Amino acid sequence: MNDFSILVSKILQIYPDEKLDLKFKNPFELLVASILAAQSKDEVVNSCTENLFQKFDSPEKFSKLNPEDLKPYISRINFWYKKAKTIIDASRLIQKNYGGNVPDSYEELIKIKGVGSKTANMILGAAFGKPAVITDTHVQRVSKRLGIVPQDAEPLEIEETIKKIVPEENLTKFSLALMRHGKKICHAKKPNCSACDIKNYCEFFRSQ
Ligand code: SF4
Repeated sequence: MNDFSILVSKILQIYPDEKLDLKFKNPFELLVASILAAQSKDEVVNSCTENLFQKFDSPEKFSKLNPEDLKPYISRINFWYKKAKTIIDASRLIQKNYGGNVPDSYEELIKIKGVGSKTANMILGAAFGKPAVITDTHVQRVSKRLGIVPQDAEPLEIEETIKKIVPEENLTKFSLALMRHGKKICHAKKPNCSACDIKNYCEFFRSQ
């Protein structure tokens, strides 16, 4: 085992079964929630989608709306109007091109307006249960601090590197584990290194 194998095992041991903080019941709800979550807090999004998904729960229903129809549900979310428009456009495309079902391939997902690489992998991993590396801001920061990737690594390089050091069946689990570690311990501004159970494997910690 090399250092990364031990580190990967340790991280999976500490965070064996993490879930996204965004609440969803199916791939479409996760797609909507992830569009709403850009530059907004997950808690605010969850408190809005609880009522929103009771009223509108399918691409078919969203595709018939105008952005103003969503205002009563999502106006507390930053850039709500723009996001409402993106969700409605995405719903119309899903309805027209995929028979109302969110596609389960990366290539098709990124054709949908509002779905970038990170969101596509998030939907594949967390909603479809497929192996995926979710390179959100926490995964990027923690993997750099740990020394898994160089400081200037772009998301694609991070994804490729993680695929090399983590067994395929654990890719999503590992992403969710790094995400949790970033939110809980390895904060952006001030990482709580003294409380960190993987500090002995961390390049940032060793360099201090
Ligand atoms: S030791 Fe500090 S910098 Fe390294 S992973 Fe832990 S919290 Fe983050």
